[in-house]
Amino acid sequence: MKKIEHIGIAVKDLETSNNLFAKLFGEAHYKVESVESEGVNTSFFQVGPNKIELLEATNPDSPIAKFLEKRGEGIHHIAYDVEDIRAEMKRLESEGFTLLNTEPKKGADNKLVCFLHPKTTNGVLVELCQEIA
Ligand code: ZN
Repeated sequence: MKKIEHIGIAVKDLETSNNLFAKLFGEAHYKVESVESEGVNTSFFQVGPNKIELLEATNPDSPIAKFLEKRGEGIHHIAYDVEDIRAEMKRLESEGFTLLNTEPKKGADNKLVCFLHPKTTNGVLVELCQEIA
């Protein structure tokens, strides 16, 4: 893994939180993107070299809706930048981690992504992401 790519935060209302985080960072988000397959609307903030992703559910079956119900608003996942997502998925699976998808899927912000089940990563949902060239 190369570095932390971004940190994902689950929020109830994206617009309210966009305003809140714009105040916190002193700068507005630079993009909003919906990922239909995941049932989420996302926004991204640049904080120096780092990125923060806010996630709002678009329907009650969305993983974000379930997360909010169970744990409330807060840190949802940590995403790591990887060079070759398929190779990393294979390596991590052989190390005993549980992958939530067997094939990389298209995520927000022009990435191929894969999630690791939090039960195998001390309760923290891990996202692998590889920039789509
Ligand atoms: Zn993410």
